[in-house]
Amino acid sequence: MSGSALFETFARAPLSFERGEGCWLIDEKGERYLDFAGGIAVNSLGHSNPALVQALTDQAQKLWHVSNLYEIPGQTRLAERLVANSFADRVFFTNSGAEALECAIKTARRYHYVAGRPERFRTITFEGAFHGRTLATIAAGGQAKYLEGFGPKVDGFDQVPFGDIEAVDRAIGPETAAILIEPVQGEGGIREVPAQAMRRLRELCDQHGLLLIYDEVQCGIGRTGKLFAYERSGVAPDLMAIAKGIGGGFPMGACLATEEAASGMTPGVHGTTFGGNPLAMAVGNAVLDVVLADGFLEAVSRKSLLLKQGLASIADEFPDVVEEVRGVGLLLGVKCRVPNTRMMATLRDEKMLSVTAGDNVVRLLPPLIVSDDEIRDALGRIRAAADQLSAPAAAAQ
Ligand SMILES: *Cc1c(COP(=O)(O)O)cnc(C)c1O
Repeated sequence: MSGSALFETFARAPLSFERGEGCWLIDEKGERYLDFAGGIAVNSLGHSNPALVQALTDQAQKLWHVSNLYEIPGQTRLAERLVANSFADRVFFTNSGAEALECAIKTARRYHYVAGRPERFRTITFEGAFHGRTLATIAAGGQAKYLEGFGPKVDGFDQVPFGDIEAVDRAIGPETAAILIEPVQGEGGIREVPAQAMRRLRELCDQHGLLLIYDEVQCGIGRTGKLFAYERSGVAPDLMAIAKGIGGGFPMGACLATEEAASGMTPGVHGTTFGGNPLAMAVGNAVLDVVLADGFLEAVSRKSLLLKQGLASIADEFPDVVEEVRGVGLLLGVKCRVPNTRMMATLRDEKMLSVTAGDNVVRLLPPLIVSDDEIRDALGRIRAAADQLSAPAAAAQ
């Protein structure tokens, strides 16, 4: 047996952090890393954010868990606030993104079931999608590498090429219940679905009586400079899964729904032990306090521009390293001409953390509270990494 007693499912970097402060992670030797991985878009308000620490510790002194056998005031409040700031009328809280997606998929199937159309259970999804690692969500994501060896693929998912609306049209059949899409693909390589395509999906759903489901687990909660990424196209869904950023590092997720879409979710048909527990709700409400404060989202957009402009000039300077800069808000991708894993490792040597994504992209997902100085600092480190990876520089060595 090698390594520790843990499953060997993760290829971990040889780093272990002791504490975090804002956009910085500090290892056991006191070395500081600039964190543009953000726990994979989870640490939306940075590490050890005082407001979140306060909310969590205040709640921890009072009550941790009661289960959904009882009223949970923090849940009611967070649901009302999510509803007030979105298309939705109803919310179901979960502990993770995959569970939020499971809830959305089940809700869509039940919607048709109670309307007398039990044959409608299939969901159309897109190539490059990522929806989680449960049996249903690996089937929804459709990626062979995540499905292999886990038995028959859960039935009910039909995949079409990314952004191919004609293929969606052709895939719709008498058993189709819903269309599931990330408004901005995260793991797939930071690919935004054009507004025109989102409008066409809405039209197809309306025309065929299907539900439109968004996966905003990664792109939601201010990441794109809007509270929800779908606000960019203005095309509202019927159901939406969120997670990651809403907890700021505390595990939580939610499925949002219109009244109509949630019509099949009657008492007893779905449940969770931990979902919506008082600790998670205290943190979720504290995250919203910050993200919904005046000027916060505008600042995300402004900082995005600063980062994107800096990245664009690095791309101009090192065309043999950087092919393209893409993405929105602080959900940015650098498509590399060198292997993205090499770029990530070189950045790590520069004491900066990033995440890889599909399509040979390195993702930059800083906390939304990142400062202009920290962005300039990051750009310096990215430039240094690109310089090292650039062919003329490499040849000179
Ligand atoms: C991370 C992610 C998920 C899965 O979330 P988990 O909390 O890991 O279950 C689903 N969809 C998208 C778009 C994600 O980025």
